Amino acid sequence: MSQIQSICLYCGSSSNTQDSHRMAARNFGLQLARENISLVFGGGRVGLMGLAADAALEAGGTVIGVIPDFLVDREVGHAACTELITTTTMHERKQKMAERADAFAILPGGLGTLDETFEIVTWKQLGLHNKPIVLVNIDGYWDPLHSLLRHMSAENYVPEAKDDLYAEVTSIDEILPTVRSMPPAQSDLKSKWT
Ligand code: AMP
Repeated sequence: MSQIQSICLYCGSSSNTQDSHRMAARNFGLQLARENISLVFGGGRVGLMGLAADAALEAGGTVIGVIPDFLVDREVGHAACTELITTTTMHERKQKMAERADAFAILPGGLGTLDETFEIVTWKQLGLHNKPIVLVNIDGYWDPLHSLLRHMSAENYVPEAKDDLYAEVTSIDEILPTVRSMPPAQSDLKSKWT
Protein backbone atom coordinates (compact mmCIF):
# COMPACT_ATOMS: atom_id res chain seq x y z
CA MET A 1 0.00 0.00 0.00
CA SER A 2 1.53 3.34 -1.08
CA GLN A 3 1.97 6.31 1.26
CA ILE A 4 1.37 9.15 -1.14
CA GLN A 5 2.31 12.74 -0.28
CA SER A 6 2.35 14.25 -3.75
CA ILE A 7 0.85 13.48 -7.13
CA CYS A 8 1.97 14.88 -10.47
CA LEU A 9 -0.85 15.74 -12.84
CA TYR A 10 -0.34 15.64 -16.60
CA CYS A 11 -3.23 17.22 -18.53
CA GLY A 12 -4.15 19.61 -21.31
CA SER A 13 -3.32 23.30 -21.55
CA SER A 14 -6.22 24.01 -23.92
CA SER A 15 -9.06 26.11 -22.51
CA ASN A 16 -11.63 25.12 -25.12
CA THR A 17 -12.51 21.63 -23.85
CA GLN A 18 -15.49 19.59 -22.64
CA ASP A 19 -17.20 20.56 -19.40
CA SER A 20 -16.77 17.01 -18.05
CA HIS A 21 -13.00 17.25 -18.46
CA ARG A 22 -12.90 20.67 -16.83
CA MET A 23 -15.02 19.45 -13.93
CA ALA A 24 -12.76 16.39 -13.53
CA ALA A 25 -9.69 18.62 -13.29
CA ARG A 26 -11.33 20.82 -10.65
CA ASN A 27 -12.54 17.80 -8.66
CA PHE A 28 -9.11 16.26 -8.68
CA GLY A 29 -7.51 19.48 -7.38
CA LEU A 30 -10.14 19.63 -4.65
CA GLN A 31 -9.64 15.98 -3.65
CA LEU A 32 -5.89 16.37 -3.38
CA ALA A 33 -6.30 19.39 -1.09
CA ARG A 34 -8.83 17.52 1.09
CA GLU A 35 -6.50 14.51 1.37
CA ASN A 36 -3.51 16.73 2.16
CA ILE A 37 -1.65 15.52 -0.94
CA SER A 38 0.47 18.07 -2.82
CA LEU A 39 -0.33 18.71 -6.47
CA VAL A 40 2.72 18.82 -8.73
CA PHE A 41 1.91 20.25 -12.16
CA GLY A 42 3.21 22.23 -15.13
CA GLY A 43 2.88 25.58 -13.38
CA GLY A 44 0.51 27.32 -15.81
CA ARG A 45 -2.87 28.96 -15.33
CA VAL A 46 -4.22 27.66 -18.65
CA GLY A 47 -6.51 24.72 -19.46
CA LEU A 48 -7.17 21.76 -17.18
CA MET A 49 -3.86 22.33 -15.42
CA GLY A 50 -4.91 25.80 -14.26
CA LEU A 51 -8.33 24.53 -13.13
CA ALA A 52 -6.84 21.75 -11.03
CA ALA A 53 -4.31 24.11 -9.43
CA ASP A 54 -6.93 26.80 -8.71
CA ALA A 55 -9.27 24.26 -7.09
CA ALA A 56 -6.50 22.84 -4.91
CA LEU A 57 -5.34 26.31 -3.83
CA GLU A 58 -8.90 27.51 -3.11
CA ALA A 59 -9.33 24.48 -0.84
CA GLY A 60 -6.11 25.26 1.04
CA GLY A 61 -3.97 22.62 -0.66
CA THR A 62 -0.27 22.64 -1.50
CA VAL A 63 0.50 23.24 -5.17
CA ILE A 64 3.95 22.94 -6.72
CA GLY A 65 4.25 24.34 -10.25
CA VAL A 66 7.24 23.60 -12.48
CA ILE A 67 7.52 25.76 -15.58
CA PRO A 68 10.34 26.63 -17.98
CA ASP A 69 11.06 30.37 -17.99
CA PHE A 70 10.33 30.68 -21.72
CA LEU A 71 6.76 29.41 -21.13
CA VAL A 72 5.89 31.67 -18.20
CA ASP A 73 4.09 34.16 -20.49
CA ARG A 74 2.49 31.65 -22.86
CA GLU A 75 1.14 29.34 -20.16
CA VAL A 76 0.57 32.18 -17.67
CA GLY A 77 2.86 31.11 -14.82
CA HIS A 78 0.69 30.52 -11.76
CA ALA A 79 2.06 33.08 -9.31
CA ALA A 80 -0.30 31.91 -6.53
CA CYS A 81 1.29 28.45 -6.32
CA THR A 82 2.67 27.43 -2.95
CA GLU A 83 5.95 26.91 -4.78
CA LEU A 84 6.69 27.90 -8.38
CA ILE A 85 9.89 26.39 -9.73
CA THR A 86 11.26 27.81 -12.98
CA THR A 87 13.55 25.75 -15.15
CA THR A 88 15.62 26.51 -18.22
CA THR A 89 14.52 23.57 -20.36
CA MET A 90 11.54 21.28 -20.91
CA HIS A 91 13.66 18.29 -19.95
CA GLU A 92 14.56 19.89 -16.64
CA ARG A 93 10.86 20.63 -16.07
CA LYS A 94 9.84 17.02 -16.66
CA GLN A 95 12.61 15.69 -14.47
CA LYS A 96 11.73 18.04 -11.59
CA MET A 97 8.03 17.18 -11.87
CA ALA A 98 8.86 13.48 -11.79
CA GLU A 99 11.23 13.82 -8.83
CA ARG A 100 8.77 15.81 -6.72
CA ALA A 101 5.91 13.31 -7.20
CA ASP A 102 5.15 9.99 -5.49
CA ALA A 103 2.70 9.04 -8.25
CA PHE A 104 1.28 10.32 -11.57
CA ALA A 105 -2.24 10.92 -12.86
CA ILE A 106 -3.08 11.64 -16.48
CA LEU A 107 -6.24 13.50 -17.46
CA PRO A 108 -7.29 14.36 -21.03
CA GLY A 109 -4.70 16.44 -22.83
CA GLY A 110 -2.85 17.06 -26.09
CA LEU A 111 0.60 16.41 -27.49
CA GLY A 112 2.42 17.77 -24.42
CA THR A 113 0.38 15.47 -22.18
CA LEU A 114 1.19 12.51 -24.43
CA ASP A 115 4.88 13.36 -24.34
CA GLU A 116 4.88 13.53 -20.55
CA THR A 117 2.81 10.34 -20.26
CA PHE A 118 4.95 8.24 -22.55
CA GLU A 119 8.12 9.49 -20.95
CA ILE A 120 7.04 8.53 -17.44
CA VAL A 121 5.64 5.16 -18.65
CA THR A 122 8.76 4.33 -20.65
CA TRP A 123 11.03 5.34 -17.76
CA LYS A 124 9.08 2.81 -15.71
CA GLN A 125 9.43 0.21 -18.47
CA LEU A 126 13.20 0.75 -18.33
CA GLY A 127 13.23 0.33 -14.53
CA LEU A 128 14.24 3.94 -13.83
CA HIS A 129 11.39 4.27 -11.34
CA ASN A 130 8.45 2.24 -10.09
CA LYS A 131 6.02 4.97 -9.02
CA PRO A 132 2.27 4.38 -9.56
CA ILE A 133 0.84 5.83 -12.81
CA VAL A 134 -2.92 6.17 -13.37
CA LEU A 135 -4.49 7.00 -16.73
CA VAL A 136 -7.85 8.68 -16.15
CA ASN A 137 -10.09 7.83 -19.10
CA ILE A 138 -12.83 10.43 -18.65
CA ASP A 139 -15.75 9.86 -21.06
CA GLY A 140 -13.62 7.46 -23.15
CA TYR A 141 -11.19 10.23 -24.13
CA TRP A 142 -8.24 7.82 -24.18
CA ASP A 143 -10.07 4.95 -25.98
CA PRO A 144 -8.22 5.55 -29.28
CA LEU A 145 -4.95 5.11 -27.40
CA HIS A 146 -6.06 1.55 -26.51
CA SER A 147 -6.46 0.60 -30.14
CA LEU A 148 -3.05 2.06 -31.00
CA LEU A 149 -1.40 0.13 -28.14
CA ARG A 150 -3.25 -3.10 -29.07
CA HIS A 151 -1.99 -2.72 -32.63
CA MET A 152 1.56 -2.07 -31.41
CA SER A 153 1.39 -5.16 -29.14
CA ALA A 154 0.03 -7.30 -31.98
CA GLU A 155 3.04 -6.24 -34.05
CA ASN A 156 5.35 -7.15 -31.13
CA TYR A 157 6.67 -3.64 -30.54
CA VAL A 158 4.98 -3.27 -27.16
CA PRO A 159 5.03 -6.12 -24.60
CA GLU A 160 1.69 -7.44 -23.38
CA ALA A 161 3.06 -6.72 -19.90
CA LYS A 162 2.59 -2.99 -20.62
CA ASP A 163 -0.62 -3.29 -18.58
CA ASP A 164 1.56 -3.60 -15.48
CA LEU A 165 3.12 -0.20 -16.15
CA TYR A 166 0.00 1.83 -15.40
CA ALA A 167 -3.52 1.46 -14.09
CA GLU A 168 -6.57 2.85 -15.80
CA VAL A 169 -9.68 4.34 -14.19
CA THR A 170 -12.71 6.15 -15.57
CA SER A 171 -13.46 8.62 -12.80
CA ILE A 172 -11.68 11.02 -10.49
CA ASP A 173 -12.97 9.20 -7.40
CA GLU A 174 -11.02 6.05 -8.36
CA ILE A 175 -7.61 7.75 -8.64
CA LEU A 176 -6.52 7.87 -4.99
CA PRO A 177 -7.79 4.38 -4.01
CA THR A 178 -6.06 2.97 -7.09
CA VAL A 179 -2.77 4.76 -6.41
CA ARG A 180 -2.86 3.65 -2.77
CA SER A 181 -3.46 0.03 -3.76
CA MET A 182 -0.39 -0.06 -6.02
CA PRO A 183 3.05 -1.17 -4.70
CA PRO A 184 4.95 1.70 -3.06
CA ALA A 185 7.84 3.22 -5.00
CA GLN A 186 11.36 2.22 -3.98
CA SER A 187 13.45 5.29 -3.24
CA ASP A 188 16.72 3.63 -4.27
CA LEU A 189 15.66 3.89 -7.91
CA LYS A 190 15.67 7.70 -7.79
CA SER A 191 19.38 8.02 -8.55
CA LYS A 192 18.72 6.59 -11.99
CA TRP A 193 16.61 9.52 -13.22
CA THR A 194 19.46 11.31 -14.99
P1 AMP B 1 -0.83 19.89 -24.04
O1 AMP B 1 -1.25 18.53 -23.64
O2 AMP B 1 -0.19 19.94 -25.42
O3 AMP B 1 -1.90 20.93 -23.87
O4 AMP B 1 0.36 20.31 -23.07
C1 AMP B 1 0.26 20.06 -21.69
C2 AMP B 1 1.52 20.52 -21.03
O5 AMP B 1 2.61 19.80 -21.57
C3 AMP B 1 1.85 22.00 -21.22
O6 AMP B 1 2.28 22.55 -20.00
C4 AMP B 1 3.01 21.97 -22.20
O7 AMP B 1 3.95 23.02 -21.96
C5 AMP B 1 3.66 20.68 -21.87
N1 AMP B 1 4.45 20.18 -23.00
C6 AMP B 1 4.30 20.42 -24.31
N2 AMP B 1 5.24 19.80 -25.04
C7 AMP B 1 6.03 19.17 -24.17
C8 AMP B 1 7.19 18.37 -24.25
N3 AMP B 1 7.77 18.06 -25.42
N4 AMP B 1 7.72 17.91 -23.11
C9 AMP B 1 7.15 18.19 -21.92
N5 AMP B 1 6.06 18.93 -21.76
C10 AMP B 1 5.50 19.41 -22.86
